[in-house]
Amino acid sequence: CEESIDKAVSSVCPFCGVGCQISLKVKDNKVQYVDGLDGPANESRLCVKGRFGYDYIHHAHRLTKPLIRLKDAPKGLNVDPANPLSHFREASWQEAIEVAAKGLSTLKQNHGGESVAGFGSAKCTNEEAYLFQKLIRQGFGHNNVDHCTRLCHASSVAALIENIGSGAVTASFNEIEHADVAIVIGCNPTENHPVAATYFKQFVRRGGKLIVMDPRGTAMKRFATHMLQFRPGTDVALLNAIMHIIVDEGLQNQTYIDEHTENWQAQKDHLVGFSPEKMAPLCGIDAQTLRQVARTFAKGKAGMIFWGMGVSQHIHGTDNSRCLISLALMCGHVGRSGSGLHPLRGQNNVQGASDAGLIPMFLPDYQTVKDNNIRAHFDEIWQEESGAIAVSATPGLTVVEIIDAIHKDKIRGMYILGENPAMSDPDVSHARKALAKLKHLIVQDIFLTETASFADVIFPAAAFAEKDGTVTNTNRQVQMGRKALDAPGEAKQDWAILIELANALGLNWQYPSPREIFNEMKLGMSSLDNISWERLSSENAVTYPCYGENQPGEAIVFGDSFPRQSGRAKFTPASVIAPDELPDKEYPLIMTTGRQLEHWHTGSMTRRSKVLDAVEPEANCSLHPKTLRRLGISPGGMIRLLSRRGEIELLARADRAVAEDMVFVPFAYVEAAANLLTNPALDPVGKIPEFKFAAVRGEAV
Ligand code: SF4
Repeated sequence: CEESIDKAVSSVCPFCGVGCQISLKVKDNKVQYVDGLDGPANESRLCVKGRFGYDYIHHAHRLTKPLIRLKDAPKGLNVDPANPLSHFREASWQEAIEVAAKGLSTLKQNHGGESVAGFGSAKCTNEEAYLFQKLIRQGFGHNNVDHCTRLCHASSVAALIENIGSGAVTASFNEIEHADVAIVIGCNPTENHPVAATYFKQFVRRGGKLIVMDPRGTAMKRFATHMLQFRPGTDVALLNAIMHIIVDEGLQNQTYIDEHTENWQAQKDHLVGFSPEKMAPLCGIDAQTLRQVARTFAKGKAGMIFWGMGVSQHIHGTDNSRCLISLALMCGHVGRSGSGLHPLRGQNNVQGASDAGLIPMFLPDYQTVKDNNIRAHFDEIWQEESGAIAVSATPGLTVVEIIDAIHKDKIRGMYILGENPAMSDPDVSHARKALAKLKHLIVQDIFLTETASFADVIFPAAAFAEKDGTVTNTNRQVQMGRKALDAPGEAKQDWAILIELANALGLNWQYPSPREIFNEMKLGMSSLDNISWERLSSENAVTYPCYGENQPGEAIVFGDSFPRQSGRAKFTPASVIAPDELPDKEYPLIMTTGRQLEHWHTGSMTRRSKVLDAVEPEANCSLHPKTLRRLGISPGGMIRLLSRRGEIELLARADRAVAEDMVFVPFAYVEAAANLLTNPALDPVGKIPEFKFAAVRGEAV
């Protein structure tokens, strides 16, 4: 095969947070095939998405020219499928940038900078995420900037920052090699982080004890020493019961607790009320099993905890993570080889985009916007000359809050780069109405996404294989992505478009290449100390924090102390809170949403990939066979799912792994968008919606 290609270019898989390094084999400006490289997170392994999911780059629907909406053309998804661009006219870059800048400037002038908001992207590079938040903050003086982390691990990050002083993982997932016990809770790594799952399976093969906890029986169940299929929404009851047993049987690591933590007594006192006998009826796991699991985890010499959106996407998502942190701390399973807390990150650069400040309450490196000195430091870096601090000290609005603020006429204009809220937001009809209401919407993407169909101006962007830049994976590994192809038509790299728009807004940005953006990031981000563009160009990956130019970086952190004022980690007790919308007579089923192996998030890329779409071609959901029988639906028949917010029709699959009162719905399919049904209720701390629990009913179509 090597003879049939022009070049092989090293890059990073654009899908999940594992961050597999890949080699793009290119001929005639087309990717011919992809191989896995020996990266720190994948050691040459790839999953089906990484190996076969690249052909969307060459799809005929790629946007190749800037577009401007035709006067009076309707906004939204009701476009002609045969001619999806019929509501737009092509424009020159100069015109599109001018129209976009004028629209946003007019809103700023008439309604203040806070009337404009931005959603950046976890699919873009670190440099692009940094520029995006800078554009909103410097250009509009406010912090109304967010991205999909709000729908993903915002509650996990809130709990981690609160209790261990840092939102990133404490150990790479590869550290499971040195563990003898591990908990995998609320995640389905076989489908969502498939290469990470291979390390989990190898751990079991070596004799490691794997405890899987999930309301749905995931494929990882086959490898588990213990499988706890608990009732949805009862994570706190389950975890508090396990911690109660550990205290009751004196299995906690008291030396670790005394030396490294605070607030233990409050945690211990709180746990008294959570006996396994009392919690068993709530969480659906018998007391004896809870005891066995508590002993297995507490007696392990080195233990890790992995979690996903099954933990974070609840109105008590922050509490769920608080419990996991407390459980690890009380067993001393943090900061040592084979030990650690690891929320598995979703998008390939959601860690890096968050680090780069693409969140409304923090500037880069999680530095609070409330601190005048920090904001003044960024003014200095951004060469603000006004004398007044450019950025507001008020945290901005989050994703769902921005949608609500549009309905209240507080937000009137948006710039959305690479995100698809018209598919990904909860109660998506509400979100779509908001997008239609905007006075001025700029969307930058590679396809006419559902969100782009609401835009006034569309900027055609480059795909990952068409640009240079760094991305940071779930392991805190900063990796170099490289341009292998020229973008189609007039599409441009996102960082270049951002610079053009910033300059049209009067910001005077000069960055000849992503390298200069990365160098500016380093001025405000100590996490990038000892990580240079040159190093990444030659070594491909360096883990942060990194304490020397010849060091690979720290796979495990917080062995001695935690980055909190006291240097200690904190226990924060959590109480049981019921989900926001409980099932009732009218809506008796619990709907939970998620991803499938073949399709990535809202499907904008993978549903345009021939192989992936061939493997999983139509909208589907899974229910227990008994539930299907009860509803009079044959496996493979059509079902109508209804919630208080909407309804969808899709194919029903029989799956014994789904509890009898549940239905699992992937959210990648526009023809049956799961988020038409989801509940927008938010976790009060992380502001993450309750995607994992909505009351629905099913009926035969
Ligand atoms: Fe890409 Fe994730 Fe699959 Fe690796 S595991 S190939 S990063 S989708």
